Amino acid sequence: MSEGIPELRAKIDVLNLQILELLSERARLAEAIGELQSKQGLSHYDPVREQKMLSALSAANRGPFENATVHSLFKQIFQASMHLEQQQDKRRYLTSRDGDANDTVVTLGDVTIGSDHSPVLIAGPCAIESEEQVEETAAFLASRGVTLFRGGAFKPRTDPYSFQGLGVEGLRIGREACDRHGLKFVSEIMDARKLDAFVEYADVLQIGARNMQNFTPLKAVGRSGKPVLLKRGLSATIEEWIMAAEYLLHEGNPNIMLCERGIRTYEQYTRNTLDVSAVALAKLQTHLPVFVDVTHSGGRRDLLVPLTKAGLAVGADGIMIEVHPNPQVALSDNKQQIDFDTFDTYLEETGYHQKLSRKRHEVYAF
Ligand code: PEP
Ligand code: MN
Repeated sequence: MSEGIPELRAKIDVLNLQILELLSERARLAEAIGELQSKQGLSHYDPVREQKMLSALSAANRGPFENATVHSLFKQIFQASMHLEQQQDKRRYLTSRDGDANDTVVTLGDVTIGSDHSPVLIAGPCAIESEEQVEETAAFLASRGVTLFRGGAFKPRTDPYSFQGLGVEGLRIGREACDRHGLKFVSEIMDARKLDAFVEYADVLQIGARNMQNFTPLKAVGRSGKPVLLKRGLSATIEEWIMAAEYLLHEGNPNIMLCERGIRTYEQYTRNTLDVSAVALAKLQTHLPVFVDVTHSGGRRDLLVPLTKAGLAVGADGIMIEVHPNPQVALSDNKQQIDFDTFDTYLEETGYHQKLSRKRHEVYAF
């Protein structure tokens, strides 16, 4: 008597498990190949190899499936294997959350940045202009509970005839003022040849938007052992930004912080467009702390409060803002820096002391 449906189905059930077993074994082999390909810098996609496998299958096919059907089934298997290999690559990245589920926490003395620590403010002038300007600003910001002081000694200016910064002298001025007021000093490095001075004077080396993909200084800064604040390039994709961070981590520096500072778009009302999704995505894909620079992104004083709220709402670990004793006469970015009174209003309107002293997940939680 011929078998009925239940008997035939029982046989299919057994075959399904055998096919699954074979598929899994095949996938493990593909992973092993993928690993070797990555080590040798070879692509996972090899169309010649795929074509050979398909031809071998056509030659061996005894039906009842047509060759086209067999090809389409196997192409799915090839694709799934390649996806596995790509996932494996992603896990290998040092920046990847898949590879390291723990949030990076950067510690600067008693300031802790990242994970569930309270969001921090990096505040200070665009450029270090004089002893007096820096002393006045550092004293004021310290009195308001700010812990990280920013100030550029080397300025990347569009116009070569505009103020370029005080150089190493500016670094010394920044360092001394920060020491007098118990602040940590963040400053932008543009040239790896100045690395020794930065290591001596600064606590955090900032890599500016214009140098995000300048790989030689990036590698040197990665080897310096100093915490780094890596700005996103003016027109950099999120992947390019994260890859730049990968360079720093690859050089052995775990203390990397990202900073979204707005990107170039067609919009004219703002200097740049703050990309809040980049902040959220950087938090999802990497374990690094992420800052939002509210000054250079909007380029407008009237946007500082809303952009701060937006940044914190999508999970930023800190905010960067430019403060100057007298912005009208500032030697750079004089339209967007804020004076001390405006900074006090900013603290009030963002609820800095009430909200930002809380754990990060409690800040602007919906
Ligand atoms: C800065 O923070 O001083 C600066 C120049 O910013 P960016 O590199 O983001 O333009
Ligand atoms: Mn500036």
